Amino acid sequence: AKEVGRNTFQFFTPEQASQSRERFELERDLRQAVERGELRLVYQPQADCATGRIVGVEALVRWQHPTRGLVPPDRFIPLAEEIGLISKIGAWVLNAACAQAYQWEKQGRSLRIAVNLSGQQISRDGLVELVREVLGTTGLSPTQLELEITEGHLLQRVEQCIATLRDLKSLGVTLAIDDFGTGYSSLSYLKKLPVDRLKIDRSFVEGIPDDRDDVAIVATILSMARNLGLDVIAEGVENETQLTHLRGARCAEYQGYLLSRPVSPAELEALLDATT
Ligand code: C2E
Ligand code: CA
Ligand code: CA
Ligand code: CA
Repeated sequence: AKEVGRNTFQFFTPEQASQSRERFELERDLRQAVERGELRLVYQPQADCATGRIVGVEALVRWQHPTRGLVPPDRFIPLAEEIGLISKIGAWVLNAACAQAYQWEKQGRSLRIAVNLSGQQISRDGLVELVREVLGTTGLSPTQLELEITEGHLLQRVEQCIATLRDLKSLGVTLAIDDFGTGYSSLSYLKKLPVDRLKIDRSFVEGIPDDRDDVAIVATILSMARNLGLDVIAEGVENETQLTHLRGARCAEYQGYLLSRPVSPAELEALLDATT
């Protein structure tokens, strides 16, 4: 019970109690999810706006909970960060994604594979060694691997971050800023970051072509990227109107439900076969 005023005590409501029990159980189960083989990856294709050709995929993690069903990453990634499990899960994701991309490479389906990094993975020691090791054991060519880092994560401990990004780049991998436009990073700061690609956040793509502000923001990001020599991909493209607009604005690549939702490896292979 917590004290809320003089002589007044407030107990957990039944709802609060069940929420904290649920969190406790989720935490307990998450600690065993890797060993129990409950995590898997789905892949969302990324295509060239002009030609429609699929050039890459983003690996997205899923947790198949034995009783709760599919738990979305937004529910368990923050929890994993809080309880110190993100390194373990992140290492599993990186390894599984690179192993899959190597399989595809061997089948003659050469695809860039994008893997999300959490803020904690970047600020902790050992990330560069992990990436090097995973590339070595899976056999994947470093140029096929792209690491996605959100703008918000890069704004913390900038100098240390830049050093880590440089080390990663020296392995031969490429780097993308995820959710670009949401984190208030300045131009001078962007110039300092050794990144290769900007991912225009879904929130801006959503308003195309009716929202004048979103249209202006997307145009600004595209011209900025061109001037800085950065590649660009738009995320969250859901309809033809948005794609046509992006194509007209000379955005290089896109990703979103219009092309495909995140899918299993077999479904991705079918999609590749259907589009080539
Ligand atoms: P994100 O990196 O921005 O990933 C894109 C999210 O948008 C994915 O949700 C994807 O399914 C969804 N999406 C893709 N296209 C569309 C679209 O056209 N419309 C709409 N409305 N949504 C679209 P998901 O898979 O639930 O992932 C959510 C977030 O969880 C990711 O956001 C990423 O921040 C995080 N996440 C996912 N997998 C991993 C991982 O392996 N490691 C880490 N650290 N984070 C991950
Ligand atoms: Ca991402
Ligand atoms: Ca994103
Ligand atoms: Ca996003």
